Amino acid sequence: MIRHHSNPAPLLGWLLLDSVRHCAGPWEFTDREMADWGRALKDACDLVRRRTGCDRVYTIAFGEGAPHLHVHLIPRFGSDAATTAWKVADLYRDVASGSRDAAAPQAVLEFVKQARSEFL
Ligand SMILES: [Zn+2]
Repeated sequence: MIRHHSNPAPLLGWLLLDSVRHCAGPWEFTDREMADWGRALKDACDLVRRRTGCDRVYTIAFGEGAPHLHVHLIPRFGSDAATTAWKVADLYRDVASGSRDAAAPQAVLEFVKQARSEFL
């Protein structure tokens, strides 16, 4: 299942893709789950690109904050150096600490509404 990063959201369109069944990571997938996950990952990346106009989508899974498989889908904009590779981790921490503005909650709500209308 797909959800938007909760507020404060580091970037508009920063989504999370969660596995339906509880598992710690892809190494626990059955063959069927592996195929479903691949399709879901592609669809979710397409959604981020379509709705944000970003150039790339970073996909990162740590699985440490919550031990349930969730992949961060992070819009990367060529025009925004703060979204470059590991700099996005600084952006993340800056938003969490309040030293950088989060995505506007109203814009996040609107993103979710639009995404639901075309994705589910
Ligand atoms: Zn779980």
